Amino acid sequence: MLSQRAEKLFSSPTLAITAKVKQMRMQGIDVIGFGAGEPDFDTPHEIKEAAIIAIKQGQTKYTPTSGLPKLKEAICHKLKIDNNLDYIPEEIIVSCGAKHSLFNAILSICNKDDEVIIPAPYWVSYPEMVKLADAVPIFVYTSEENSFKLTPQELRKNITKKTKAIIINSPSNPTGALYKREELLDLTEIALENNIFIISDEIYEKLIYDDKKFTSIASLEKEIKYLTITINGLSKVYSMTGWRIGYTAASNHIIKAMSNIQDHSTSCPNSIAQHAAIAALEGGQECVESMRLEFDKRRKYMVERLNNIMGINCVVPYGAFYVFPNVLALFGSKYQNYHIYNANSLAEYLLEEAKVAVVPGEGFGSSQNIRLSYATSMENIINGLSRIEEALGKLIKI
Ligand code: PMP
Ligand code: GLU
Repeated sequence: MLSQRAEKLFSSPTLAITAKVKQMRMQGIDVIGFGAGEPDFDTPHEIKEAAIIAIKQGQTKYTPTSGLPKLKEAICHKLKIDNNLDYIPEEIIVSCGAKHSLFNAILSICNKDDEVIIPAPYWVSYPEMVKLADAVPIFVYTSEENSFKLTPQELRKNITKKTKAIIINSPSNPTGALYKREELLDLTEIALENNIFIISDEIYEKLIYDDKKFTSIASLEKEIKYLTITINGLSKVYSMTGWRIGYTAASNHIIKAMSNIQDHSTSCPNSIAQHAAIAALEGGQECVESMRLEFDKRRKYMVERLNNIMGINCVVPYGAFYVFPNVLALFGSKYQNYHIYNANSLAEYLLEEAKVAVVPGEGFGSSQNIRLSYATSMENIINGLSRIEEALGKLIKI
């Protein structure tokens, strides 16, 4: 018999689709993947070199649980320069990816039956992490008309005596929504009034387009900073998904609690990856800008093409590397044995008929949308969208 905790969990649909694409390719099937939420670029050369040097120098032992002092200093420096945030190394913990940072943060603050507000659509892992902490995810649905952003009224309506925290992810996975400074201020004032934690997942901070600006929530006001747990990591910005380095900045008592959890679960993050992370943060940042520019080109192309396909309506994303088009108009159509009635059935049709992998919106809290990642080559994007267009053109309304 499994634990109730394990039984109530769902597997990750984003990881599942990535695995499925790999498996299909191994069988020789020519499938185009818009599923994976990871940059397609190689990790920059200097970062890889730093890891090789670390191995050669024998930096292959346990480090302090919360991370190498030099890495924590580099993170403090980054937070100051990029985000105007003053943190000291005792207020930083490095974990095995931002996913691990989020998990430990939630575990550190939530008791059984505490409520955690999650604006929907949300990244697939938030609800499951909250459930693992025996707390309760409270979904607050945002609208496409409001570019998938939570309004202060919606937040206020959902706060109860049990509310412990709210998770804000700007720019958002899966919608690409980016909150303006004033919008964040309105939301965080409510959190302050009600003394609830704000978990700010800032992992896509550097992937922002057009003339939009990023605001780090903890930089808004001093009081807000004390309630904010800032999560970030190197996976997306430096194309380092496999290295597993994420970090948290928060008040020392929270960091201490997270460190205790880490002491008894994973110990320190990988020592070699930590040395590579120092090189990433302290080295030249040109690689970040060149990846961002490339993502931007792909984003523009993808949004325009998708909006020209009948039955698809795509809100313009201002951050991250995903589009989250609405596909409701396609429901109630069919081709041969395929019946399209929700995002799942559409994703299945696209995978089998067009050999294109997308992630159905259900796992993100919306059955009317599908997620496509543009973290893949322009060639794949052009071909993949043509395949989608062709497959959707075969559907007949029933
Ligand atoms: N937050 C969001 C919103 C993400 O999309 C991801 C990507 N997996 C993460 C956190 C975690 O990233 P990682 O664990 O690779 O640092
Ligand atoms: N965050 C990425 C995604 O949403 C990577 C997969 C995962 O960790 O869920 O696709």
